[in-house]
Amino acid sequence: LLYQTPEVTKPRYVRVNTLKLDVENALCKLERQYMARKDDMVPDLLVLPPGTDLHDHPLVMNGSVFLQGKASSMVAVALRPKPGWEVLDACSAPGNKTVHLAALMKGQGKIIACELNKERVKRLEDTIKRSGATNVEVLHADFLNLNTKDPLYSKAWMVMIKFQLGGTKDLLAISSYVLREVRAILLDPSCSGSGTSADRLDHLLPSYTAGQAADVADTERVNKLAAFQRKALAHALSFPAVERVVYSTCSINQAENEDVIKSVLPLAASHGFQLATPFPQWPRRGFPVFEGSEHLLRTDPTIDMEGFFIALFVRKNVINGNQE
Ligand code: SAM
Repeated sequence: LLYQTPEVTKPRYVRVNTLKLDVENALCKLERQYMARKDDMVPDLLVLPPGTDLHDHPLVMNGSVFLQGKASSMVAVALRPKPGWEVLDACSAPGNKTVHLAALMKGQGKIIACELNKERVKRLEDTIKRSGATNVEVLHADFLNLNTKDPLYSKAWMVMIKFQLGGTKDLLAISSYVLREVRAILLDPSCSGSGTSADRLDHLLPSYTAGQAADVADTERVNKLAAFQRKALAHALSFPAVERVVYSTCSINQAENEDVIKSVLPLAASHGFQLATPFPQWPRRGFPVFEGSEHLLRTDPTIDMEGFFIALFVRKNVINGNQE
């Protein structure tokens, strides 16, 4: 099969959790024994020879290093959250990208980690604990039900500054607003996972064959997932103060990737968003199915470790403000 490249031929990656250990120190600890080297694109990622197994390594056990692939580690970096921002991780468990956000934000600001599934909330909490992040608030909720106008995500705090005038007892109150708002959203929704498991890919290569029960079920499943992904992305783009939204899947299906992006483009434009280009130096871009798909990023499971997809939306005025 085209996609069954032996796992042993592909390098392994680990992400250094810079909340606990800096990259140079991690490299020192892993360089000699494992021939680790720095990745050339993702600053906190180390590349290890194919087949390296660090599952039981003390640095992994104590949360200094996370076993996280390159494509997965590109998502939070693409969002470029600033320390001090408030960031929403919309579909967050088990929390690998949540704690990556926390590290990129140097533990400053706040991350709201939303997760629907109660069991997975526990895994999310474990990941956060292991990472040492202290600025993550876990929200057990349906992202689609979060009210974009809720003051929790777009908050104006009134600060009363009072001073006493001369000899009088009169108080002059001046009020001003301090804005505290979600500035960025990472949306990594449930997907088919077709980019991460070789034995689930064979049915995706040819077009679906009518009459074969398994294929029909797969098509239905992908369509359902795509409907959810479209809704979730439209919802993310509707938060009033959000400047950047990153969308990712570990799927190779056009239906969950380019088609989802294409379907929200009119809405995105109406909210002032446009597609930006994450990792412009990366060679593999979106399938050319609409104008602008060259902004999208794909990883290929036959070449890269996994099949991933990343799209980045940035509000236009922010692009003009030289942030992109
Ligand atoms: N970003 C995670 C990471 O890197 O560790 C992986 C996220 S996983 C692909 C998708 C998650 O979204 C699942 O844990 C799933 O339970 C959750 N989810 C699905 N629908 C959701 C919804 N409506 N609201 C919030 N979370 C949801």
